[in-house]
Amino acid sequence: MVSLLTLSIVYIAYYLGLPWWWERSPSMTIILLIVGNWLLVNVCFHYYMGVAVPAGNPPQGGLIPEAVSICKKCIKPKPPRTHHCSVCNKCILKMDHHCPWLNNCVGHYNHRHFFLYMVYTVVGVTFIMIFGIRLAYEEFFPDQEPELDGHPVRLNNSEIIPMTESLDHLSKEELAEIAKQAAETEAKEWRQRLIIFAGLICVATFAALGALAWWHAGLITRGETSIEAHINSAESKKYRAQNKFYQNPYDFGPRENWRLFLGIKNRNWWHILFPSTHGPYGDGLTWRTIHDSKIS
Ligand SMILES: [Zn+2]
Ligand SMILES: [Zn+2]
Repeated sequence: MVSLLTLSIVYIAYYLGLPWWWERSPSMTIILLIVGNWLLVNVCFHYYMGVAVPAGNPPQGGLIPEAVSICKKCIKPKPPRTHHCSVCNKCILKMDHHCPWLNNCVGHYNHRHFFLYMVYTVVGVTFIMIFGIRLAYEEFFPDQEPELDGHPVRLNNSEIIPMTESLDHLSKEELAEIAKQAAETEAKEWRQRLIIFAGLICVATFAALGALAWWHAGLITRGETSIEAHINSAESKKYRAQNKFYQNPYDFGPRENWRLFLGIKNRNWWHILFPSTHGPYGDGLTWRTIHDSKIS
Protein backbone atom coordinates (compact mmCIF):
# COMPACT_ATOMS: atom_id res chain seq x y z
CA MET A 1 0.00 0.00 0.00
CA VAL A 2 2.76 2.42 0.99
CA SER A 3 4.66 1.71 -2.19
CA LEU A 4 1.54 2.31 -4.31
CA LEU A 5 0.81 5.59 -2.52
CA THR A 6 4.35 6.93 -3.00
CA LEU A 7 4.29 5.71 -6.59
CA SER A 8 1.13 7.71 -7.31
CA ILE A 9 2.70 10.89 -5.87
CA VAL A 10 5.69 10.45 -8.16
CA TYR A 11 3.37 9.92 -11.12
CA ILE A 12 1.23 12.97 -10.28
CA ALA A 13 4.46 14.97 -10.42
CA TYR A 14 5.26 13.29 -13.74
CA TYR A 15 1.91 14.18 -15.32
CA LEU A 16 2.04 17.75 -13.98
CA GLY A 17 5.52 18.09 -15.48
CA LEU A 18 4.44 17.07 -18.98
CA PRO A 19 2.97 20.51 -19.95
CA TRP A 20 6.33 22.06 -19.05
CA TRP A 21 8.00 19.77 -21.60
CA TRP A 22 5.22 20.37 -24.11
CA GLU A 23 6.01 24.11 -24.14
CA ARG A 24 9.65 23.36 -24.91
CA SER A 25 9.50 20.31 -27.16
CA PRO A 26 6.29 18.57 -28.24
CA SER A 27 8.15 15.66 -29.84
CA MET A 28 10.14 15.10 -26.65
CA THR A 29 6.89 15.20 -24.67
CA ILE A 30 5.41 12.44 -26.79
CA ILE A 31 8.49 10.27 -26.18
CA LEU A 32 8.30 10.98 -22.45
CA LEU A 33 4.59 10.17 -22.45
CA ILE A 34 5.16 6.81 -24.15
CA VAL A 35 8.23 5.78 -22.14
CA GLY A 36 6.73 6.97 -18.82
CA ASN A 37 3.52 5.05 -19.30
CA TRP A 38 5.33 1.98 -20.59
CA LEU A 39 7.35 1.95 -17.35
CA LEU A 40 4.24 2.59 -15.26
CA VAL A 41 2.37 -0.31 -16.86
CA ASN A 42 5.30 -2.65 -16.18
CA VAL A 43 5.73 -1.48 -12.57
CA CYS A 44 2.03 -1.96 -11.82
CA PHE A 45 1.84 -5.29 -13.63
CA HIS A 46 4.82 -6.88 -11.86
CA TYR A 47 3.78 -5.44 -8.50
CA TYR A 48 0.31 -6.91 -8.93
CA MET A 49 1.69 -10.27 -10.07
CA GLY A 50 4.21 -10.30 -7.22
CA VAL A 51 1.33 -9.89 -4.76
CA ALA A 52 -1.25 -12.07 -6.53
CA VAL A 53 0.85 -15.06 -7.67
CA PRO A 54 1.65 -17.47 -4.81
CA ALA A 55 5.29 -18.52 -4.61
CA GLY A 56 4.22 -22.18 -4.71
CA ASN A 57 4.03 -24.96 -2.13
CA PRO A 58 4.81 -28.67 -2.27
CA PRO A 59 1.65 -30.71 -2.99
CA GLN A 60 -0.48 -31.87 -0.08
CA GLY A 61 0.12 -35.55 0.39
CA GLY A 62 1.27 -37.75 -2.46
CA LEU A 63 4.80 -38.71 -3.32
CA ILE A 64 7.53 -36.23 -3.97
CA PRO A 65 10.10 -38.33 -5.80
CA GLU A 66 12.99 -35.93 -5.37
CA ALA A 67 12.39 -34.98 -1.75
CA VAL A 68 15.72 -34.43 -0.08
CA SER A 69 14.64 -33.88 3.50
CA ILE A 70 11.69 -33.58 5.84
CA CYS A 71 10.32 -30.23 7.01
CA LYS A 72 10.30 -30.30 10.80
CA LYS A 73 7.41 -27.82 10.96
CA CYS A 74 5.12 -29.31 8.29
CA ILE A 75 6.37 -32.88 8.95
CA LYS A 76 6.31 -33.43 5.21
CA PRO A 77 8.90 -34.25 2.54
CA LYS A 78 10.80 -31.24 1.27
CA PRO A 79 11.91 -31.02 -2.39
CA PRO A 80 15.30 -29.51 -3.20
CA ARG A 81 15.50 -25.67 -2.95
CA THR A 82 12.30 -25.65 -0.84
CA HIS A 83 12.39 -23.87 2.52
CA HIS A 84 9.90 -23.31 5.29
CA CYS A 85 8.60 -19.76 5.75
CA SER A 86 7.76 -18.98 9.35
CA VAL A 87 5.54 -16.03 8.35
CA CYS A 88 3.39 -18.03 5.91
CA ASN A 89 3.86 -21.13 8.07
CA LYS A 90 4.25 -23.19 4.90
CA CYS A 91 6.96 -24.74 2.83
CA ILE A 92 7.79 -22.54 -0.18
CA LEU A 93 9.18 -23.88 -3.48
CA LYS A 94 12.56 -22.36 -4.36
CA MET A 95 12.03 -19.89 -1.55
CA ASP A 96 13.93 -16.64 -1.83
CA HIS A 97 12.57 -14.61 1.08
CA HIS A 98 9.32 -13.43 2.64
CA CYS A 99 8.67 -9.95 1.29
CA PRO A 100 6.76 -7.61 3.64
CA TRP A 101 6.28 -5.04 0.85
CA LEU A 102 4.44 -7.55 -1.32
CA ASN A 103 2.95 -9.21 1.77
CA ASN A 104 3.85 -12.44 0.01
CA CYS A 105 6.57 -15.02 -0.11
CA VAL A 106 8.96 -14.72 -3.04
CA GLY A 107 9.71 -18.12 -4.54
CA HIS A 108 9.47 -20.33 -7.61
CA TYR A 109 6.33 -18.91 -9.27
CA ASN A 110 6.69 -15.17 -8.55
CA HIS A 111 10.44 -14.62 -8.35
CA ARG A 112 10.61 -13.10 -11.85
CA HIS A 113 7.78 -10.65 -11.11
CA PHE A 114 9.43 -9.58 -7.85
CA PHE A 115 12.72 -8.90 -9.59
CA LEU A 116 11.23 -7.12 -12.62
CA TYR A 117 9.07 -5.00 -10.30
CA MET A 118 12.28 -3.75 -8.65
CA VAL A 119 14.04 -3.18 -11.97
CA TYR A 120 11.17 -1.26 -13.59
CA THR A 121 10.68 0.83 -10.45
CA VAL A 122 14.37 1.78 -10.33
CA VAL A 123 14.38 2.58 -14.06
CA GLY A 124 11.16 4.57 -13.57
CA VAL A 125 12.46 6.80 -10.78
CA THR A 126 15.73 7.28 -12.68
CA PHE A 127 13.72 8.34 -15.72
CA ILE A 128 11.69 10.82 -13.67
CA MET A 129 14.80 12.25 -11.99
CA ILE A 130 16.58 12.76 -15.32
CA PHE A 131 13.66 14.51 -17.00
CA GLY A 132 12.43 16.32 -13.91
CA ILE A 133 15.68 17.92 -12.81
CA ARG A 134 15.54 20.81 -15.30
CA LEU A 135 11.90 21.43 -14.52
CA ALA A 136 12.63 21.48 -10.78
CA TYR A 137 15.61 23.77 -11.28
CA GLU A 138 13.55 26.31 -13.20
CA GLU A 139 10.78 26.10 -10.65
CA PHE A 140 13.07 26.98 -7.75
CA PHE A 141 15.55 29.23 -9.57
CA PRO A 142 13.54 31.05 -12.24
CA ASP A 143 15.60 32.99 -14.80
CA GLN A 144 13.79 36.28 -14.37
CA GLU A 145 11.73 37.33 -11.41
CA PRO A 146 8.30 38.31 -12.61
CA GLU A 147 8.19 42.11 -12.32
CA LEU A 148 4.93 43.32 -10.92
CA ASP A 149 5.80 47.01 -10.60
CA GLY A 150 3.23 48.18 -13.06
CA HIS A 151 0.39 46.66 -11.08
CA PRO A 152 -1.71 48.62 -8.66
CA VAL A 153 -0.75 46.32 -5.80
CA ARG A 154 2.57 44.59 -5.56
CA LEU A 155 2.39 41.02 -4.32
CA ASN A 156 5.47 39.32 -3.04
CA ASN A 157 5.67 35.57 -2.67
CA SER A 158 4.09 35.81 0.75
CA GLU A 159 0.47 35.16 1.42
CA ILE A 160 0.13 38.45 3.27
CA ILE A 161 -1.28 41.15 1.05
CA PRO A 162 0.33 44.38 2.22
CA MET A 163 -2.76 46.46 2.66
CA THR A 164 -3.05 49.24 5.20
CA GLU A 165 -6.28 50.74 3.99
CA SER A 166 -9.51 49.19 2.93
CA LEU A 167 -9.89 47.61 -0.47
CA ASP A 168 -12.89 49.77 -1.24
CA HIS A 169 -11.08 52.13 -3.53
CA LEU A 170 -9.97 49.28 -5.79
CA SER A 171 -11.98 48.46 -8.85
CA LYS A 172 -13.52 45.04 -9.48
CA GLU A 173 -10.77 44.23 -11.97
CA GLU A 174 -8.06 45.11 -9.49
CA LEU A 175 -9.60 42.92 -6.80
CA ALA A 176 -9.88 40.09 -9.28
CA GLU A 177 -6.21 40.53 -10.12
CA ILE A 178 -5.26 40.31 -6.42
CA ALA A 179 -7.28 37.12 -6.00
CA LYS A 180 -5.74 35.66 -9.13
CA GLN A 181 -2.20 36.37 -7.95
CA ALA A 182 -2.92 34.93 -4.51
CA ALA A 183 -4.23 31.75 -6.13
CA GLU A 184 -1.15 31.57 -8.33
CA THR A 185 1.13 31.92 -5.33
CA GLU A 186 -0.65 29.12 -3.55
CA ALA A 187 -0.54 26.89 -6.64
CA LYS A 188 3.18 27.57 -6.91
CA GLU A 189 3.72 26.57 -3.28
CA TRP A 190 1.83 23.30 -3.75
CA ARG A 191 3.76 22.62 -6.92
CA GLN A 192 7.05 23.15 -5.11
CA ARG A 193 6.00 20.90 -2.21
CA LEU A 194 5.03 18.19 -4.69
CA ILE A 195 8.36 18.49 -6.52
CA ILE A 196 10.35 18.24 -3.26
CA PHE A 197 8.30 15.28 -2.03
CA ALA A 198 8.45 13.43 -5.35
CA GLY A 199 12.19 14.13 -5.53
CA LEU A 200 12.79 12.69 -2.06
CA ILE A 201 10.76 9.58 -2.90
CA CYS A 202 12.72 9.10 -6.13
CA VAL A 203 16.12 9.42 -4.40
CA ALA A 204 15.12 7.10 -1.53
CA THR A 205 13.60 4.52 -3.89
CA PHE A 206 16.61 4.68 -6.18
CA ALA A 207 19.00 4.06 -3.28
CA ALA A 208 17.03 1.32 -1.50
CA LEU A 209 15.52 -0.63 -4.41
CA GLY A 210 18.57 0.02 -6.58
CA ALA A 211 20.84 -1.66 -4.04
CA LEU A 212 18.40 -4.54 -3.55
CA ALA A 213 17.93 -5.08 -7.29
CA TRP A 214 21.71 -4.98 -7.80
CA TRP A 215 22.23 -7.61 -5.12
CA HIS A 216 19.51 -9.85 -6.57
CA ALA A 217 21.01 -9.45 -10.05
CA GLY A 218 24.23 -10.88 -8.62
CA LEU A 219 22.34 -13.83 -7.12
CA ILE A 220 20.56 -14.54 -10.42
CA THR A 221 23.89 -14.38 -12.28
CA ARG A 222 25.23 -17.08 -9.94
CA GLY A 223 22.01 -19.14 -10.09
CA GLU A 224 21.18 -18.95 -6.40
CA THR A 225 18.41 -17.63 -4.17
CA SER A 226 18.93 -15.34 -1.13
CA ILE A 227 18.73 -18.39 1.13
CA GLU A 228 21.08 -20.45 -1.06
CA ALA A 229 23.59 -17.60 -1.04
CA HIS A 230 24.10 -18.23 2.68
CA ILE A 231 24.11 -22.01 2.27
CA ASN A 232 26.53 -21.85 -0.67
CA SER A 233 28.98 -19.55 1.07
CA ALA A 234 28.97 -21.83 4.14
CA GLU A 235 29.53 -24.88 1.90
CA SER A 236 32.34 -23.12 0.03
CA LYS A 237 34.10 -22.44 3.32
CA LYS A 238 33.72 -26.06 4.40
CA TYR A 239 35.06 -27.34 1.08
CA ARG A 240 37.94 -24.89 1.08
CA ALA A 241 38.98 -26.11 4.52
CA GLN A 242 39.37 -29.56 2.92
CA ASN A 243 41.20 -28.06 -0.06
CA LYS A 244 38.25 -28.81 -2.33
CA PHE A 245 36.17 -26.60 -4.57
CA TYR A 246 32.44 -26.25 -4.02
CA GLN A 247 30.16 -25.83 -7.01
CA ASN A 248 26.58 -24.56 -6.78
CA PRO A 249 24.63 -27.38 -8.50
CA TYR A 250 22.14 -24.86 -10.00
CA ASP A 251 24.74 -22.55 -11.55
CA PHE A 252 24.70 -23.13 -15.32
CA GLY A 253 26.75 -20.03 -16.10
CA PRO A 254 25.57 -16.39 -16.15
CA ARG A 255 23.91 -16.44 -19.57
CA GLU A 256 21.95 -19.65 -19.00
CA ASN A 257 21.06 -18.65 -15.43
CA TRP A 258 19.46 -15.41 -16.67
CA ARG A 259 17.61 -17.15 -19.49
CA LEU A 260 16.25 -19.70 -17.03
CA PHE A 261 15.30 -17.02 -14.52
CA LEU A 262 13.56 -14.75 -17.02
CA GLY A 263 11.92 -17.68 -18.80
CA ILE A 264 13.26 -16.69 -22.20
CA LYS A 265 14.94 -19.91 -23.33
CA ASN A 266 12.19 -20.38 -25.93
CA ARG A 267 10.70 -16.88 -25.88
CA ASN A 268 11.82 -13.50 -27.19
CA TRP A 269 12.62 -10.28 -25.34
CA TRP A 270 9.10 -8.95 -25.73
CA HIS A 271 8.17 -11.20 -22.84
CA ILE A 272 10.41 -9.11 -20.59
CA LEU A 273 9.82 -5.66 -22.09
CA PHE A 274 6.04 -6.01 -21.93
CA PRO A 275 3.78 -7.58 -19.32
CA SER A 276 3.78 -11.35 -19.70
CA THR A 277 2.29 -13.90 -17.35
CA HIS A 278 4.54 -16.79 -18.46
CA GLY A 279 5.59 -18.95 -15.54
CA PRO A 280 9.01 -20.36 -14.67
CA TYR A 281 10.42 -23.57 -16.17
CA GLY A 282 9.68 -26.72 -14.24
CA ASP A 283 7.32 -27.48 -11.38
CA GLY A 284 9.66 -26.40 -8.60
CA LEU A 285 9.74 -29.96 -7.24
CA THR A 286 12.45 -31.51 -9.38
CA TRP A 287 15.52 -29.54 -10.38
CA ARG A 288 18.07 -30.10 -13.09
CA THR A 289 21.62 -29.71 -11.79
CA ILE A 290 24.99 -29.24 -13.44
CA HIS A 291 25.62 -32.92 -12.71
CA ASP A 292 22.70 -34.04 -14.88
CA SER A 293 23.46 -34.88 -18.46
CA LYS A 294 19.88 -34.48 -19.67
CA ILE A 295 18.92 -31.11 -21.01
CA SER A 296 15.45 -29.89 -20.20
ZN1 LIG B 1 7.50 -26.55 6.04
ZN1 LIG C 1 6.36 -16.31 3.57
